[in-house]
Parts: sequence; C-alpha cells; structure tokens
Amino acid sequence: MLLNNTAHFLAMDVAYEEADVIVFGAPFDGTTSYRPGTRFAANGMRNESDGIETYSPLLDLDIATSCIRDVGDLEFPRGNTVKILAEIKKVTQKILTDQKKPLMLGGEHLVTLPVIEAIVETYPDVNLLQLDAHTDLRDTYLGETLSHATVIRRCWDLLGDGRIFQFGIRSGTKTEFGFSLVENHTYLERFAVTTFKDILHQLVGKDVYVTIDLDVLDPALFPGTGTPEPGGLTYRELETIFLALKEANINLVGADIVELSPHYDHSNVSTIVACKVLRELSLLMAHK
Ligand code: MN
Ligand code: MN
Repeated sequence: MLLNNTAHFLAMDVAYEEADVIVFGAPFDGTTSYRPGTRFAANGMRNESDGIETYSPLLDLDIATSCIRDVGDLEFPRGNTVKILAEIKKVTQKILTDQKKPLMLGGEHLVTLPVIEAIVETYPDVNLLQLDAHTDLRDTYLGETLSHATVIRRCWDLLGDGRIFQFGIRSGTKTEFGFSLVENHTYLERFAVTTFKDILHQLVGKDVYVTIDLDVLDPALFPGTGTPEPGGLTYRELETIFLALKEANINLVGADIVELSPHYDHSNVSTIVACKVLRELSLLMAHK
C-alpha cells in the first residue's frame, strides 16, 4: 500500500490528506522485451529532482505552492505480474476514493492497465491520450495478453472505439496500424503531434487520462529507455502539448509517465528530462 517513504520528488511533500495529486512509483519491468531497468525510474527521478526548479516558466505554476504528494514506490511481490497489477489497481482505487488524482511513475508501460481499470470505475466515460513511439496494440505478444506491447489493446478492451488518441506513433506491426483504422478503434497520428490541438477541442469538458511513454521523445535527447525508436518528438514539441492542455483547460483525472530506464543514459540527462515532464504534468493536474 501507500508508504511514507522519506525520499520524495522535489517539494512534493504536502500531507497526503491535503494533496490533490498523489504521485507514486510502480517499479515493475517484468514483461520488458528488450532492455529492462524501468524499475529504477522513479527513485532515479527523485534523486535527480534537486537539479530542476519547482517553478515552471512554461506554465507559470509552482510545485512549492501546489498540493502534490509523492508517496514513494509501491512494494511488489516480485515475479508475479497478476498480483503486481492488482496491487497497482488497489492503490489507485484508494487514491480515487479519497478524491485525489493518481499520477503514476513506471515502470514499463503495462502498469498503465490497472490504473485505467480503476479509473473507468470512477470515470466511466474517460478518454485516453497516449504519447508513445509504439502502438502497443498487439492482441498478444509472445503468447501473452499482458505485456507492455499489448497494454493499449487491453485498454481498448475496456474503453471501446473512439476513446483512445495516440500520438507520435512510429513503430508497430502492419496489423496494429490496421487495427487502429478499423471502425475508428483508435485515433492514431503517425510520427507527429500536428493534430493534437484539434483532438483536444473534442475533449473539452470531458474526463481525460494521459499516458506518456517517454520513448515518444527522440532518442537523441532521451536515450534512457528500453526500446529507443529514432524519429521522435523534440522536447519543445512536448511543451506545446503541455501548453495546449493548459489552454484548453482539459480535465485531467489521472496520468502516468512510463519507460524511463535510467541506466542506459550515463549522463543522466534522460532522467532530468523525465523530471521536467513530471513537473509539468503534475502542475497541470494540481492546477485544475
Ligand atoms: Mn508504450
Ligand atoms: Mn514505447
């Protein structure tokens, strides 16, 4: 359950009872197909977070004056994927019951699934925005239905057509790209985010969950990930997305940041990038 770890992300130390946004780490990388290591992401970000400011000039918002609490990493029964996912769902349900917003730090992308399972119980009409290099729409991967490569397909099982919006996607099988097109199963923009603002207009006044797979960024600026994919977004493009979310006043009911694998970038710049993404996203959620 929620631990009272002493280590926390920069200035995210308000009491749980007073917090609007609860940040927690889900250190699971059990289905990673290529290079593991995302279990170290959240603590890596906590360690590096002193290197950035609490104030965001982009959003004109400040963690120091926002009600955000980082409760640390969850404790997992290692090796048991189903139990680990159940634990994440249980913690998310508690955060939602306490009328707070969950912001999870992965972990690999599969950890998004149990959060979405809990979210739809509270927000049955939720829409899912995904930033990712990969479609993650496989029905099975190496015989498994629960995988980082199937996670958005499993979310579609829950949400159905027309409620998943994918951006920056530049890798997947022909079948996956085809699945997206069938009867508008999902909205998918390949390679870029040029239609992001148009989509946001459709989502004004609706409940929105955001999942950011950091490999959506170009590996030149974010090499610290398990399956790097060339041709990604610049950091400035990501900032235009954060600004668009603020300007459209989108109701973010939850979010996650996944797939940072700190050890593949010995400069630690990838971890700092992830820290800034967390700062902006948490501020957007606390601001509402
Ligand atoms: Mn992904
Ligand atoms: Mn990905």
